[in-house]
Amino acid sequence: SAKAEGRNRIHIFNDQIKHHNASQIKLEEQLRHAVEDELSLHFQPIYYVDSEEIYGVEALLRWNSKEFGKVSPRDFIPLAEETGLIVSIGEWVIYEAIRVMKKWQRKYDVPIKMFINLSSRQVNHPNFSRELKRIFDITDIDPRRISFEITESMMIDNFEQGKLILGELIDMGVKLSLDDFGTGYSSLSSLRHLPFQILKIDKSFIDDLSAVDANVAILKAIIEMAHSLNLSVVAEGIERQEQYDLVASLGVDFIQGYYTNPPLPEDKIEKIFQEKTPT
Ligand code: C2E
Ligand code: CA
Ligand code: CA
Ligand code: CA
Repeated sequence: SAKAEGRNRIHIFNDQIKHHNASQIKLEEQLRHAVEDELSLHFQPIYYVDSEEIYGVEALLRWNSKEFGKVSPRDFIPLAEETGLIVSIGEWVIYEAIRVMKKWQRKYDVPIKMFINLSSRQVNHPNFSRELKRIFDITDIDPRRISFEITESMMIDNFEQGKLILGELIDMGVKLSLDDFGTGYSSLSSLRHLPFQILKIDKSFIDDLSAVDANVAILKAIIEMAHSLNLSVVAEGIERQEQYDLVASLGVDFIQGYYTNPPLPEDKIEKIFQEKTPT
């Protein structure tokens, strides 16, 4: 299929970029160009377990390339990291997410939380905090409505430096979520030393639940520990009713997954708001 072909070509580029030949320039051009008109954000609702209410949405990048078709963020984010383009792409994501937050606030009076993924190179860029302060100055948005998603793997290279930057973010008033918890790098110790408010349990962990009973006991312990550290818990990648029922019974606070909604474009999210508050 065209899609598979597009994927293969991306992988070829991916290989080539590692060998730093001429195609790197082409791909960089494509990605740079993409920031302007081929990237968009989708939004996946995160629901309270106790009610039908949306707590927030996670912003997820989409690249619809004229040349390659739809390219998964799992393919292009690593490339953007490698080329450094993630810095400008990441900045665009923050502006775009804030634009949408303000629009939804204005049109539907929904002050929902926005979850924004950050990547390592972006956060470690020397201008990151300054740039973020500037964004908050010009956009006039309450930073407490934004939760940045950080993975533990991002902290691995330089824990002290990472801790410093996360501290600066907290000082600005934003919230922090620990993403992909349960995927190998995870250690409970980092939770004690880092200023997170939310723990996001990875889909791979949820997937194993029905199969292995021991995981249920582990999940229960993780949730209890998180709560005792004043963290709220999101279960990611909930696809089926049984999974929803199980994590709900274990005391998870929020759920996110195809069971409730896949990531949706802006207008589809607005349909959900309209159904809830008829105008
Ligand atoms: P992530 O942060 O772990 O995001 C969750 C991924 O799981 C998303 O994939 C989402 O579409 C998918 N997902 C959600 N619910 C379900 C479910 O029930 N079943 C299944 N099978 N999948 C589900 P997506 O959108 O392809 O994004 C992949 C990864 O790309 C993200 O993983 C994140 O690491 C990265 N990414 C996406 N947008 C951004 C961004 O703006 N900045 C950065 N730095 N990374 C991003
Ligand atoms: Ca995420
Ligand atoms: Ca995740
Ligand atoms: Ca992930």
